[in-house]
Amino acid sequence: MKLIEQQKLSIYNSISKTKEIFTPINKGVVGMYVCGPTVYSNVHLGNCRTFLSFDLVFRYLKHLGYKVRYVRNITDAGHLENDGDSGEDRIAKKARMEMVEPMEIVQRYTIDFHTTMSHFNALAPSIEPTATGHIIEQIVIIEKILSEGYAYEVNGSVYFDVHKFNEEHSYGKLSGRNLEDMVANTRVLDGQSDKKNPQDFALWKKAEPEHIMRWPSPWSDGFPGWHLECTAMSTKYLGKQFDIHGGGMDLKFPHHECEIAQSEASTNVNPVNYWMHANMLTLNGKKMAKSTGNNILPSEIFSGDNTKLSKAFSATVTKFFMYQANYRSILDFSNDALLASEKGFNRLMDAYRMLSGIKASDNSDFDVSKWRQSCYDAMNDDFNSPILIAQLFEAAKIINSSKEEKISLSQSDIDLLQKTMSDFIFDVLGLEDSINIESNDSNKLSDAISILIGLRNQARANKDFATSDLIRDQLLDAGIQLKDGKDGTTFSLN
Ligand code: AMP
Ligand code: ZN
Repeated sequence: MKLIEQQKLSIYNSISKTKEIFTPINKGVVGMYVCGPTVYSNVHLGNCRTFLSFDLVFRYLKHLGYKVRYVRNITDAGHLENDGDSGEDRIAKKARMEMVEPMEIVQRYTIDFHTTMSHFNALAPSIEPTATGHIIEQIVIIEKILSEGYAYEVNGSVYFDVHKFNEEHSYGKLSGRNLEDMVANTRVLDGQSDKKNPQDFALWKKAEPEHIMRWPSPWSDGFPGWHLECTAMSTKYLGKQFDIHGGGMDLKFPHHECEIAQSEASTNVNPVNYWMHANMLTLNGKKMAKSTGNNILPSEIFSGDNTKLSKAFSATVTKFFMYQANYRSILDFSNDALLASEKGFNRLMDAYRMLSGIKASDNSDFDVSKWRQSCYDAMNDDFNSPILIAQLFEAAKIINSSKEEKISLSQSDIDLLQKTMSDFIFDVLGLEDSINIESNDSNKLSDAISILIGLRNQARANKDFATSDLIRDQLLDAGIQLKDGKDGTTFSLN
């Protein structure tokens, strides 16, 4: 039987606020859309956390054997400064400040995003469409919404009529807000806006003369509203109804709420079966954000070049730190937490490497099949990576005990343990063993360290402890830790 059939995956659906058994629309196939970055600056670690949360979802679905079409867009137009309908386009503003073309900004930060994601060993999505590549599709949707009577045109701009929509549909069902409360909590319009109601949102905005990112449309030379691109690109590539839509928690309202309204208004179909929202990474207890400067960049972590850090950390350790928390929990970033994750990750990898040297017995004292299923149970429970990692540490304990010959394992159980650890550590979590990354280089590195260990042993035999300590300490400074055990000296990379 295939893994898909054996394992019952449940997903926490933000719209029903419960965990639901996952049943895709088409058997064995999953359509997943995740809101991508707005490419006007370097992605910070908070952005990365959301994308890595969905990388885990993508990897696990694939691991189970689903054929996944994963669409993650690039927002290269329409996202205004205040997330609303006024202010400058973020990309155009940056381009103006730097006196370059908006598309130069888009290019630079798309490359930064891709490079960062590949450092984190995140898989590329199946399709990565851009907003500017789908202007025609967006115009077609606006025409449909207008013809259904859920939008109106004023002075070359088109707005979605939230009140009209709410008469026949329900606006606010994802975020749990209701329109009356929204009305009660909003200031009346100041007469400057073309909107009928403050809750209405732009589908198309007429461009002011100075606005350089503009396209022709039946209403004006202008640009699409931010929410519309995701409706256009998700339904174009996944159909008007698809399985999973994800994004950061902060996109639930208004962005995703407006996506539901646009889809229902144009197709009369609820577009998404499972809404998934990844929680925020915080720094000093506050959300990491580009706008406030309260953030840390992945490049700073990899180089250690930030006063908040005592040293550099690898991308794998940073990712391990993130996966030690559930994707639905807030996670606070700190140097101490990274140090602890690094120690934990090294312990796990030491145990994994040790597996091949374990002496097999005729029978086992540990039920490896049951343990393997508990790894699946953790991931089947809404991708619960911290529980999965706890299970992997359980295996590390067993490996250590069996190395010390306190418990026995049969060869077939050793093999299953190795396969399961490898499946989950490398395939599902997408972590990398630093020693295996460049196996050629790492062989050379291992050889060089072995030579140094030999020299240290010689110094010790000659009672030249000053030299032996110097070798150990200088290796430690270089991030290589020597460990003396009864079978000789081993090393691990910090
Ligand atoms: P943006 O480029 O601002 O559109 O954001 C890209 C993605 O990062 C969105 O899914 C956001 O929800 C997400 N995001 C932004 N800030 C954080 C944060 N501090 N922690 C986790 N995800 C975030
Ligand atoms: Zn989106």
